[in-house]
Amino acid sequence: MATAAVRGRLTWQVAQVSSVTRETDAVRTIGLEVPGWPGHRAGQHLDVRLTAEDGYTAERSYSIATADGEPVAITVERLDDGEVSPYLTGELRPGDELELRGPIGRWFVWDPTDGGPLLLVAGGSGVVPLRAILRHRQRSGSDVPVRLLYSSRTLADVIYHRELDRHRDGAQVSYTLTRRQPPGWTGYSGRVDAAMLAEIAWPASQHPLALVCGPTRFVETVAEKLVALGYPAGRVKTERFGGT
Ligand SMILES: Cc1cc2nc3c(=O)[nH]c(=O)nc-3n(C[C@H](O)[C@H](O)[C@H](O)COP(=O)(O)OP(=O)(O)OC[C@H]3O[C@@H](n4cnc5c(N)ncnc54)[C@H](O)[C@@H]3O)c2cc1C
Repeated sequence: MATAAVRGRLTWQVAQVSSVTRETDAVRTIGLEVPGWPGHRAGQHLDVRLTAEDGYTAERSYSIATADGEPVAITVERLDDGEVSPYLTGELRPGDELELRGPIGRWFVWDPTDGGPLLLVAGGSGVVPLRAILRHRQRSGSDVPVRLLYSSRTLADVIYHRELDRHRDGAQVSYTLTRRQPPGWTGYSGRVDAAMLAEIAWPASQHPLALVCGPTRFVETVAEKLVALGYPAGRVKTERFGGT
């Protein structure tokens, strides 16, 4: 039988948009005031439901961008041919209302007691729940060593760039740019491959925990390569955002 807390999470409710922040040309962070929010864990997501005037509805999942104890926010990338993301990134204004339910998900979460060392691998907007995890690590004073490998198309597409560069307290952040690199670029170039992972990933002998998030193909490729490096499948947590 569902407990009251579970029923609460799975019930659609109306939230109010408190802020809309530009992250990149295509990406906005949407702050939300959610009455009676039960609290969330870094890495969880929520569902958003849009309803058209004729009653047609569309639902999509979005990772929660903030740490445990912080106000709820989501970070959405506009897909130009998408049904929902152009509305969320282009039309929503502070004061608007949005239907959502959550928090959802128990597997793709991290807490300092889960230990590490931690390897975070993100493709595009897959950095959103990993940002929540980095914030949670910092806010909780954890000294678990962490490395983030973040793949973006270009430097201008890097989400949370300034914030990520501030995580210097035992967090090592590496970028790879797949489409275009600025002059003098010292990060990685091209898609995440076995050689890049072999350089950045903690050796399997240190019993690391990996969290991988992004487009489905990206996640599957990275997870396979980590297992090939000796990571037990159970120590590679994945979150697939969809797409091709
Ligand atoms: C658990 C979970 C968490 C997610 N968290 C986030 C998040 O934090 N931020 C975020 O921006 N998105 C996130 N997504 C993806 C999000 O749910 C939507 O799929 C995305 O916003 C596209 O919706 P849309 O209606 O605009 O596009 P759709 O109309 O659904 O699709 C338009 C086109 O884009 C393709 N497409 C759909 N999703 C993707 C994708 N992720 N990458 C590339 N192409 C895609 C489709 O195949 C289609 O061709 C998450 C998905 C899941 C399952």
